[in-house]
Amino acid sequence: MAYAYDDQNIFARILRGEIPNKTVLETEHSLAFRDIAPQAPTHILVIPRGAYVCFDHFAHAATDAEIVDYVRAVGEVCRMEGLEADGWRLISNAGTNGVQEVPHLHVHILAGRRLGRMLQPA
Ligand code: 5GP
Repeated sequence: MAYAYDDQNIFARILRGEIPNKTVLETEHSLAFRDIAPQAPTHILVIPRGAYVCFDHFAHAATDAEIVDYVRAVGEVCRMEGLEADGWRLISNAGTNGVQEVPHLHVHILAGRRLGRMLQPA
């Protein structure tokens, strides 16, 4: 599937330094920063620096180096934040049914309280 990337999306602007962010981790191919509207005591977004719309796009089009860097960045954030003891959740929304607001791949790392069931009624 061909994904059209909108380079004016908010995370593209964060990557270009046009909008500030609370950075947690920077790597060669990835950036982790705190969500502006946290839904848990720890709510961190991890994004690739490359122009990928969603996880599927990334999985198909990213280089091996980008994929390794991204997966390791997620793990590194969990270690830095000490999340392994009490647990955490990883979410990546995609497209309309996934209720993805920002069309640049991101995973949400959520932790710091009991998060409840994974899905709520729509
Ligand atoms: P989505 O629904 O696309 O999976 O999640 C997008 C997330 O981006 C939301 O949790 C929202 O709070 C967060 N977000 C939107 N705009 C900004 C921003 O300008 N800065 C930061 N740090 N997070 C943002």
